[in-house]
Amino acid sequence: MLIFGTRPGAIKMAPVVKAMQAQPDRFEPIVVVTAQHRKLLDQVLSIFDIHPDFDLNLMVPHESQAERTSKMLHHLENIVNAAQPEMILTIGDSTTTLVASLCAFYHQIPIGHVEAGLRTHDKYAPFPEEMHRQLADVLSDLYFAPTEQSKQNLLMENKSTDSIFVTGNTSVDALNYTITDDYQHPVLRLIPDNHRVILVTVQRRENMGEPIRRVLHALRDVVETNPDVELVYPVHPNPEVENLAESILGGRDRIHLVEPMDVYDFHNFSARSFLIVTDSGGIQEEAPSMNVPVLLLRDETERPEGIAAGTVKIVGTTIEGIQQGIFQMLHDKKEYRKMAHAKNPFGDGHATERILKVLDEYLD
Ligand code: UDP
Repeated sequence: MLIFGTRPGAIKMAPVVKAMQAQPDRFEPIVVVTAQHRKLLDQVLSIFDIHPDFDLNLMVPHESQAERTSKMLHHLENIVNAAQPEMILTIGDSTTTLVASLCAFYHQIPIGHVEAGLRTHDKYAPFPEEMHRQLADVLSDLYFAPTEQSKQNLLMENKSTDSIFVTGNTSVDALNYTITDDYQHPVLRLIPDNHRVILVTVQRRENMGEPIRRVLHALRDVVETNPDVELVYPVHPNPEVENLAESILGGRDRIHLVEPMDVYDFHNFSARSFLIVTDSGGIQEEAPSMNVPVLLLRDETERPEGIAAGTVKIVGTTIEGIQQGIFQMLHDKKEYRKMAHAKNPFGDGHATERILKVLDEYLD
């Protein structure tokens, strides 16, 4: 039983679902979605043509974390009782990840955690994700660590080495399904070939309020002072973000405020961008496979591999930090090329095969 509920969870679990469905003699996948993010999740399900066996449809706005957690546990238990899976697979660090792990534990069903071992070691950052992944890893039986570093994090927590498998991140596998050569998008048609596209996403809880305000002002100045730069910003569907984006960036030349893109559009748009400026986790993993440098709008990351490999730079959320980071990418060709062509430390697009091989042997 594969359980997920958010957009990034769905993107990372989709290659696993597809690969299992393609091998019915080896696997009988039961797909359960909690729909913690309803609209964004549905976009992913539709692109990958995944039809969940169970859909809890649990998204309620303004719910407390405790309400969401307890309600989800209750509903998930009914499904686990009905379907009696041999194993439960979880992904990442969402509320769904924690609840699925807890439910599996109560029913003494083995748990495989995809994307295990990411850590900041800071209880409240990111909140609540750091604790979700730590708690999920306390409960899990098999760890699919994306990198050697995440394996080391698990070993430091005394997980048995036999239970940890370094597979790469399935987010990189997802690109095998989405990237196409003949991609077109209405916004791309508006942009002259010799202009450079900066793709932006900002949506983390800790960046709401003043930080996002600074980010948007910094980006506006960059566009105003660089006539060959075009900013494309899929605005997250949060009223505060939408209002700020409209008031700071709306109606300006070479700034394109668009709806959140589905994953097909987002991946193909990323591949055609000059630079990505983001606070996202998953985008740090994907962009290096498309040779696009990432500037990270955070002060720390649970994905230090990108910094070490030179695919990602932390610029934080100060106006100076962001502008200096972008200035360097726009004007220092050598540094740009070095970042763009550094090897992706997060995966090679074959993580799913490795996970299925381990599962096959484990379930035998
Ligand atoms: N993404 C998308 N459309 C967008 C922005 C992002 O499909 O408009 C995808 C992106 O390719 C990545 C994932 O969503 O796979 C990242 O999700 P998000 O930033 O919401 O969460 P995080 O990765 O930080 O957990």
